[in-house]
Order: sequence, then structure tokens, then C-alpha cells
Amino acid sequence: MKSLISWTIRYIPRKYLQLFSHIFLRIAAVFYRGNRVRCPICSRSFRKFLPYGRVGRENALCPNCLGLERHRLMWLFLQQKTDFFTKQLKVLHVAPELCFLKRFEALKNLDYITGDLESPLAKIKMDIHQIPFPDNTFDVVFCNHVLEHVKSDIDACKEINRVLKPGGWGILQSPVYDLDKTLEDTSITDPVERERVFGQRDHVRKYGKDYAERLSTSGLNVREIPFVREIDPHLIHQHALPETEMIYFCSKG
Ligand SMILES: [Zn+2]
Repeated sequence: MKSLISWTIRYIPRKYLQLFSHIFLRIAAVFYRGNRVRCPICSRSFRKFLPYGRVGRENALCPNCLGLERHRLMWLFLQQKTDFFTKQLKVLHVAPELCFLKRFEALKNLDYITGDLESPLAKIKMDIHQIPFPDNTFDVVFCNHVLEHVKSDIDACKEINRVLKPGGWGILQSPVYDLDKTLEDTSITDPVERERVFGQRDHVRKYGKDYAERLSTSGLNVREIPFVREIDPHLIHQHALPETEMIYFCSKG
């Protein structure tokens, strides 16, 4: 199971994976019946979560909603630290994650717009380097696991800053490694070489601890919030949360 999942993840882009994987996962959910872990996104309990990722990370993927550790953490952050679920908000969700999509669409308080260059899940086809909306349009922008793929992450952040309303905010998660400085080399274009240097075949940079500071050079204010440290250890375990993940919270600069 672990090696099958890790092969699939490696060679099939997540956006396509999301379209077909739910059938397989429905079957898996039967085998993972139990009460040891609970997904805060879909409120379902299991014996454990499915393995996921390149190395077959244990206890990661919710068989019901496809949420991963980072998604569960973001969901809790939105619930506990923002007014996302109650306030009237205009939201742009770039590269929308399947585990959030239907749930956010169902929220009556949101004017919810999804956009992406390729993802069939998104309603609007858009390039993040040129977001097709006027200045000061959105109260909230989500853009997770996108910036490590795009040509210019700084230009993308300038665009997010531009379309955010004054007082607007967003979340910009990306894989961040234990490096002092972000590794970027535009001369590396071969997928095999990109995988070796940046960690994945379609990544164009590998973020380090300067992530928030780097993105802030765009004019957008980006800060890291160690939200997981505020959560009760019992719940970290029960929800299988990523214990070292920061929330990268941004606001219009
Ligand atoms: Zn779930």
C-alpha cells in the first residue's frame, strides 16, 4: 500500500489525483474504520489516517475528505483564529484543495472564487502572475503549495497584495525546509535535476527559513505563526497535526 501510494504521488500530479482517488479512498475508509484519530475537517474518525507522500509518511491522509496534516492544521487555524466561517467575505482560493472546496463553497457567508492555471477543480483559469481581478477585490486569499512551482513567487505575491482589500488577509503555505536561505536556480529545468535539488520534479525552488521574509519583499506582509504550539498535545495526536508546521499568514501591505 505504502509503495503504491508513494509511486502514484510521484508520477501523477495531485490535481489529477484528486479527481480519481476518491473512489479508492472510499474503499480504504472501510479498512481504516476506528476511533483513534479524528479529522476536524470532515469530522470522521478512523483507526489511523492513510500513509501519504514520497516516503509514505504514516498517519497522514484522511480517507474521507483527502485532508492532510497541513490541511487539518489550517482548518483549525481558520476556526480558532479568524472569522472565516462567519463574516461576509469575498475569497480567492488559488489551486483549491479538494478537502476544502465543497465545504468552502457551501459557506453562505462567502463569495467564494477558485482559480488556477491548470487545475480542473478551479472555476477560473488564471495565471497567478496576472490575477484577472481589479485592485482591492478580496478580503481573503488562499494560495497553498503553489509558490514553489511558479516562475516568480515575488511577482505572485505582488499580485496577491494588489487584489487584497485594505485589511485583507491570506494564508500562503509552501514546503519549507531546514535551510537558512531559499535555494533557487533558474538554470535548472530538467525534471530529474529539479527533483534532486528542489525535492520534486515540478518545483523551481526550495524554501528555507527566510520564506516569510523573502515573500515580504513583494510588499505583502507575511509572518509565521507557530499556531500548532497552542494546541493541546492530545489533540495534536488525535488530529495527526504537523508539529513543526508554521502558518504563513499574510496581510495587505
Ligand atoms: Zn477528513
